[in-house]
Amino acid sequence: MTSAATLLSDVFGFDAFRAGQQEIVEAVTDGENVLAIMPTGGGKSLCFQLPALMRSGVTVVISPLIALMRDQVRALQEAGVCAGALTSGNTEEETDAVWDGLERGDLKLLYMAPERLASSGTRDMLRRVGVSLIAVDEAHCVSQWGHDFRPDYLRIGELRRALDVPLAAFTATADAETQVEIVQKLFDGTAPRAFLRGFDRPNIHLAFASKDSPRRQILDFAAARKGQSGIVYCGTRAKTEGIAGALRDAGHAAMHYHGGMEADDRRIAERRFQQEDGLIVVATVAFGMGVDKPDIRWVAHADLPKSIEAYYQEIGRAGRDGAPAETLTLFGPEDIRLRRTQIDEGLAPPERRAADHARLNALLGLAEALECRRKTLLKYFDETDVTCGSCDLCDAPVDVFDGTTAVRKALSAMLRTDEWFGAGHLIDILLGNETDKIRQRGHSSLPTYGVGKEYDKRQWQAVFRQMMGHDLVRPDPERHGALRMTDAALPILRDEAKISLRRDTIKSAGKNRRPAA
Ligand code: ADP
Ligand code: ZN
Repeated sequence: MTSAATLLSDVFGFDAFRAGQQEIVEAVTDGENVLAIMPTGGGKSLCFQLPALMRSGVTVVISPLIALMRDQVRALQEAGVCAGALTSGNTEEETDAVWDGLERGDLKLLYMAPERLASSGTRDMLRRVGVSLIAVDEAHCVSQWGHDFRPDYLRIGELRRALDVPLAAFTATADAETQVEIVQKLFDGTAPRAFLRGFDRPNIHLAFASKDSPRRQILDFAAARKGQSGIVYCGTRAKTEGIAGALRDAGHAAMHYHGGMEADDRRIAERRFQQEDGLIVVATVAFGMGVDKPDIRWVAHADLPKSIEAYYQEIGRAGRDGAPAETLTLFGPEDIRLRRTQIDEGLAPPERRAADHARLNALLGLAEALECRRKTLLKYFDETDVTCGSCDLCDAPVDVFDGTTAVRKALSAMLRTDEWFGAGHLIDILLGNETDKIRQRGHSSLPTYGVGKEYDKRQWQAVFRQMMGHDLVRPDPERHGALRMTDAALPILRDEAKISLRRDTIKSAGKNRRPAA
């Protein structure tokens, strides 16, 4: 039998394995059940293609992305490998060729969309033709709670039982919870051999900025990168159209993209982005999976993503060619409120909500990080051996100060008004402002009234934002978004713990603040 190293160079044209590939290739070739979590662009496909050639029989590859399947099949065929795909886009000749290859026993890799598994004809065929391995790409699509859920992925577990062959699952979603779900649904709960590695994308520069005038901030960021391909992610469909228009007015080639568009228009946008240089796509999260453009030079978030996972995936679309790429994520209190409300008002069961809040908290922690973004981000994925030098906080370390007193004053204003108010009114209390609401509620007689005059309104907003970022307070949807204290704030309130706040967001909270880049 030809060795893996020979196939690697002769068939795939690579001199060496990338980090992590060899171990995965060996385990899959040996017929172990495998769950491999690799970042996008890490070289997953080789990890099932090469074993498919090493093993006898057919490897079935399940993938939700028809365009990517077709690309892989074409590349394999050009390399002389007998591979085929059964997808809805096939011509009759293509389908016939696949069947012929199967009947002859030549076919090594059979790609198919998960929908195919719904047909009993397909299942019977797979039982007959000597399948020796199932490979599942984008395995996180089996997670009912992720935004990429594909119901047909739930059939893969059945297929594995019916064929009784090893299964290798691949995804770029590292989240511990999603992993648990993959193990349950694809492997019937029996832990496969897991490979997790290489989540760092050292060529991607990470930066966050507090949201000030978002459209201006995005325009400035794009202006400094004119002529480069980029993506702007927005929280709403309407905003994608607005920002795309503003970018065009500023002389950029820009188009919007969201799930409300006709399928044809979406495909046109995808194709243009793929083929043209220097186009900006302003999109909701609907844009992304299946985008395979290696030279995206930047990704900006006009709104905070919904979780640290989503953040990682979205920025990860930049710089897949390995050349430097830049990112900027804007965030403000409205984002935090919106994301919390979405979680609380969503359909997910309570235990799921807690997990979603935790993922959001992890992202807020990253947004409010006091040292290296990259280290903070990768710690979430259990990677601790990280060197950086390419994030806003390594570029210019933040100045922190002891914010315990400020935070205690803010908490006190909240508690003395029974946690029934939002940041705006609480700040009026702290500043000793005379508003109608203060008068009506008699809040000028509170002991906290006017105790916060050392800061102005914007500085207090920064304090409240950082408090939300540290999950000391949360807006309560049942109280119209009034802020309520979390247990995490108790030690500070009791003077048992101190908290550091970022001075820059406090000090520079003046007018017309612009992002550094
Ligand atoms: P993903 O993990 O996103 O599915 P791919 O399998 O598409 O990644 O691989 C990403 C890129 O890396 C492809 O262009 C592929 O040809 C290249 N690649 C994969 N393995 C190697 C290797 N060992 N040496 C060099 N390039 C590789
Ligand atoms: Zn850093």
